[in-house]
Amino acid sequence: MTLLEGLEKRLREECPLLELRKNEPMSRHTSFRVGGPAALMALPKTREEAMDAVHIAYRQGIRPFFLGNGTNLLVSDQGYDGYVIKTTGLERLEWVDFTYSGRKLVVGGGVFLSRLANFAAEQGLTGLEWAAGIPGTVGGAVVMNAGAYGGELCQVLEKVSYLVETGDVLRMDAGACEFAYRHSIFSRLPEWMVLNVSLLPLAQEAPARIRERMAELAEQRRAKQPLEHPSAGSTFKRPPPVDGKPVYAAALIDQCGLKGLTVGGAQVSEKHAGFIINRGGATCRDILKLMEEVTRRVLAETGVELEPEVKTLGV
Ligand SMILES: Cc1cc2nc3c(=O)[nH]c(=O)nc-3n(C[C@H](O)[C@H](O)[C@H](O)COP(=O)(O)OP(=O)(O)OC[C@H]3O[C@@H](n4cnc5c(N)ncnc54)[C@H](O)[C@@H]3O)c2cc1C
Repeated sequence: MTLLEGLEKRLREECPLLELRKNEPMSRHTSFRVGGPAALMALPKTREEAMDAVHIAYRQGIRPFFLGNGTNLLVSDQGYDGYVIKTTGLERLEWVDFTYSGRKLVVGGGVFLSRLANFAAEQGLTGLEWAAGIPGTVGGAVVMNAGAYGGELCQVLEKVSYLVETGDVLRMDAGACEFAYRHSIFSRLPEWMVLNVSLLPLAQEAPARIRERMAELAEQRRAKQPLEHPSAGSTFKRPPPVDGKPVYAAALIDQCGLKGLTVGGAQVSEKHAGFIINRGGATCRDILKLMEEVTRRVLAETGVELEPEVKTLGV
């Protein structure tokens, strides 16, 4: 019996309600619509199931890969011969009363950012308008410290609850999470799973005003980004500033004349050079080759080395 077969057996015995899928195509779980099968996938729906899914795996000597909505992820065409835990069933969003610090919004790691932003807007709470158009989960956004239009998740977080290898749940203040541009302690330590977060108090504003700003930002996205094609958002990170001035990956790629550059089904978007899109039938190999070519040409022509923002699995 292989390690993974042993894990599957244990999970079925000890956690019979946990949903398990074998050879699950990852192309169904990534916004690039690319990726071969994951050998074993667990889809917990409760905190208890998530705790079992994690600690049973570590007990069997297997490190799970934590998948949110797969919107910042490129998976190998050969798939992943390992164990994936998909978090989107962890979707509780609730007010919790804390004795000393009052009422707080506590949000499951699998909640979509768009749902959180819309909930805040309904409640007349401002500070999450920027998040409405990001297609990932709260867990993925903590890992990436996702942000847009001047907002970043770390600005609204109070604490993060996370599961460690033993299956214990620990809590960390946002200040200790090493948040930086598209980085957190959870991207450095991928063995931990973000279970839920509590948010800082948000300021009150009329829901109509909040909705207006969300609609403006959605319009900006529609106008500038190739939302009609599968992608993983910005392919590369923003490079470090030069002489205090910001440098944008999309501007460098555009300046090198690389818009429209194509490898197989993968293309540098004509609409936004920062996005690589799947024009239809792209493979992971196509996307990686195109990323390499873009990186090579931008380095040769501008001296700037682009770093991928997109995470990879099985590559
Ligand atoms: C059209 C489009 C627009 C986008 N716009 C933006 C934008 O404006 N700003 C921005 O920052 N990003 C943007 N993104 C990228 C992406 O949506 C964000 O990075 C998002 O935070 C990823 O969340 P996810 O749940 O999809 O994570 P996934 O892609 O599933 O995973 C990303 C990483 O997080 C880890 N992870 C996910 N969930 C957990 C968890 N619960 N515990 C531990 N690790 C976990 C994964 O292992 C992986 O390493 C965009 C993507 C698309 C497709």
